[in-house]
Amino acid sequence: MPSLQTQLDLACQSIQHEIGVGKVADYIPALAQVPADKFGAAIVTVTGEKALFGDSQEYFSIQSISKVFALTASLNLHDKKIWDRVGREPSGNAFNSIVQLEKEGGIPRNPLINAGALVVTDSLLESKTTEDCTAHLLKLVRQLADNDSIAINSEVAQSERETAHRNASLAHFMQSFGNLKRTVSDVLDVYCQQCAIAMNCEQLARSALYLASNGTDPLTKTHIVDEERARRINAMMMLCGHYDASGDFAHRVGLPGKSGVGGGIVVVIPDIGTVAVWSPCLNVNGNSHAGTAALEALVRATNWNVL
Ligand code: GLU
Repeated sequence: MPSLQTQLDLACQSIQHEIGVGKVADYIPALAQVPADKFGAAIVTVTGEKALFGDSQEYFSIQSISKVFALTASLNLHDKKIWDRVGREPSGNAFNSIVQLEKEGGIPRNPLINAGALVVTDSLLESKTTEDCTAHLLKLVRQLADNDSIAINSEVAQSERETAHRNASLAHFMQSFGNLKRTVSDVLDVYCQQCAIAMNCEQLARSALYLASNGTDPLTKTHIVDEERARRINAMMMLCGHYDASGDFAHRVGLPGKSGVGGGIVVVIPDIGTVAVWSPCLNVNGNSHAGTAALEALVRATNWNVL
């Protein structure tokens, strides 16, 4: 059996020609500056073994991957009540689509599309200032990554906040249905900060390890969420983690995962570990093209898929 490092090296080397295929996200101006030829990957196992490849130590904004951490925080705060405000079905629509919201009474399909994530962020704001709420989320991510240096890229946060017209529309629309408790402005302030959390592949893989280990960090033994909640977060990632390409991702990779328009993807291999990849060029659905290809190659070699 080849070592973990050899398996990662072989998988990543086999897809190098895919790097640069697709387009760097440019609807958030600060993201458009990221070089298209970056590629990094990291595996962290539940026993603490690690393998790193390429630009694994470079920071990128985790964008929608933060939705997994926000959902974790919301389930801990509100338990099942969050499911009265957000569904748990794949949307089959783009990450920032508004079309279903009208037909479905302002209840977003799931917590991992933008509309759902805005409701989740709203739920975290309950009786908190926007600063306290952002600090609460950052504290959670630092705990998950076991790294107090993780920070928000304020340039990316500001850039997204200034251009958040779609997200503002989604938020206003949901408010008109009574599914937003705080002001649109407060919700967007926190949401844009959470999306701009900067991490590298190693930190990102480390931060999702609790999901590979029934909700408890297997290395520090810290209880993060109940086992049942961890299972449900993984279910959401499997069904909805890649927007309207979630089925395609399950078909190719077969693991719970979440992507972000910064080009990052994190996947969970239950009882084994986590993998994070980063490559900023996205496919038409907003998921990293080379990152998905690398995960597909890795899973083919390791047989880690759960399907
Ligand atoms: N901050 C991004 C947005 O709301 C996140 C989208 C994504 O990563 O898929 O548009």
